[in-house]
Amino acid sequence: MDNKTITVTSPLLPKLEEFMPYLQEIWDSKWITNNGQFHQQLEKALCEYLRVPYISLFTNGTLPLITALQALRVTGEVITTPYSFVATTHSLWWNGIKPVFVDIDPATCNLDPSKIEAAITPRTTAIMPVHCYGKPCNVKAIQEIADKYGLKVIYDAAHAFGVEINGESVLNAGDMSTLSFHATKVYNTVEGGALVMNNAETKRRIDYLKNFGFAGETEVVAPGINSKMDEIRSAYGLLALKKVDESIAERQKVAQIYRSELKDVPGIRYFEDMPGVKHNYSYFPIFVEKDYGMTRDELYFKMKENNVLGRRYFYPLISSFSTYRGLESSDPKNLPIATRIAEEVICLPMHDALSENDIQRVIDCIKR
Ligand SMILES: *Cc1c(COP(=O)(O)O)cnc(C)c1O
Repeated sequence: MDNKTITVTSPLLPKLEEFMPYLQEIWDSKWITNNGQFHQQLEKALCEYLRVPYISLFTNGTLPLITALQALRVTGEVITTPYSFVATTHSLWWNGIKPVFVDIDPATCNLDPSKIEAAITPRTTAIMPVHCYGKPCNVKAIQEIADKYGLKVIYDAAHAFGVEINGESVLNAGDMSTLSFHATKVYNTVEGGALVMNNAETKRRIDYLKNFGFAGETEVVAPGINSKMDEIRSAYGLLALKKVDESIAERQKVAQIYRSELKDVPGIRYFEDMPGVKHNYSYFPIFVEKDYGMTRDELYFKMKENNVLGRRYFYPLISSFSTYRGLESSDPKNLPIATRIAEEVICLPMHDALSENDIQRVIDCIKR
């Protein structure tokens, strides 16, 4: 019997021979980083693909979060979600900002807008929500609160590559949105990331900040960091961009099979598509509820025994890590929904290389 390990993710990896001509061009030009031609081409191509006005490439998805906060001079306290990858909150720490955790909505796993206002203090300067699993936040409700209190909004859109609401990119919401192009994401440049912004002045400022703060040959305007993307990964990104629609279509098929197979399994909850939303099928989380008859961890380890690797994503909550657990807002009593969801979730294997047999093996583990 075929019992090969089924991994939770597998990178969108273009064919090596298709990448070779790009490498040859880079070698011939001897221009390997610092806003070279492939870097410029990729920024332009991503603006067109994602339908956003301005984008600045980064070397990963964490530095754009840190840099956006610096660029907007966010200080004091920022309201954010505990149900995310730890980099979201770490970006606040790196700017000396105090995170204030607010609970999530179980229908989306995103920050619950109805709970934000109660967490605002005179020191609050911004909100940092996450489009968890690529499901769009309630961007309208969040913007209304931000406008009412004069707060900035920076979206961690690491999961939301290509996601649209009623034909508009979700990346256009708020003051800025960040992307990650890590190998595990829907679209990757091996490691990489980007900031999306809505005006040329901000783009120029971000371009300074990701290059040590240099605003010219001899002028440094701020203590910027070095987070530039190089030519090799920019070229890889151009090639990967040609493959991403096909990859997302494959993921959509996997999601459809999971849904049709799991719909009659008691105690297993999963997400349906949201009306008017173009999804990217980046993750397929299931939530193991009481009437399933097995705990989440029991199912998780059973899958593992069968060489089916899920991921408890997100577990544990960011608010429970040693750096953050002393904060008042980290008290699980403040975060009952996130605390429960983190105990229920397993992300099932989701990528474009899953065969029908692979998918069936995942389903069989869950159906028993
Ligand atoms: C992947 C991810 C990041 C960090 O991106 P890197 O490219 O790995 O630095 C940040 N936030 C979320 C929600 C992520 O999933």
